[in-house]
Amino acid sequence: MDRGSVLERGEEVRSNRRPQAAKPIDLARIERAVREILVAIGENPDREGLRETPARVARMYAELFGGLHEDPRKHLQRVFTQKYDEIVVVRDISFASLCEHHLLPFFGRVHVGYVPDGSIVGLSKLARVVDVLSRRPQVQERLTVEIADLIMHELNARGAGVVIEAVHTCMTIRGVRNQTSVCITSALRGTLKEKPDSFLSLVPVGGVMGDR
Ligand SMILES: [Zn+2]
Repeated sequence: MDRGSVLERGEEVRSNRRPQAAKPIDLARIERAVREILVAIGENPDREGLRETPARVARMYAELFGGLHEDPRKHLQRVFTQKYDEIVVVRDISFASLCEHHLLPFFGRVHVGYVPDGSIVGLSKLARVVDVLSRRPQVQERLTVEIADLIMHELNARGAGVVIEAVHTCMTIRGVRNQTSVCITSALRGTLKEKPDSFLSLVPVGGVMGDR
């Protein structure tokens, strides 16, 4: 390993940044690792029910973490000139991600809003952005600000806002085992930070458990 890459690694560790050019997903390596886990928990990885499991888990992780190798900005490149400077909100975008602390799913709804400044984007593209950024090892707090910052910058928006409500299985099925807790995060930018109610009044939360 040369000196440059050592320094780079140190930089990543300190800043909690991801590697700059993430390598493609190595299926064979995941397979070997999953087989090791099965042995480590006292299972027999060669019994019939488990024989295909390492390969299956490898394909699953390739899908669930595929967003690491996609650039979410690509979905915000095609915009339409439109004289409209009021808020646009897409509510209840469903998402599923994996928490980077336990690699357990957290899932729920994302509400996205922005105030355009002369150009608008196709509404489905906002859901595409949520999808790409979700399919990475995440924490809900970072996912929230990443979506808001991306929309703010790529669309040159006057304002952007994101609210996420999610159930974390690392809280519901393990640890504290609290079945009903929901985590809510928000990120507000530009004019929506100045007037939070213009966005927050349009995104009633509390429906993630299906009780809205
Ligand atoms: Zn967790």
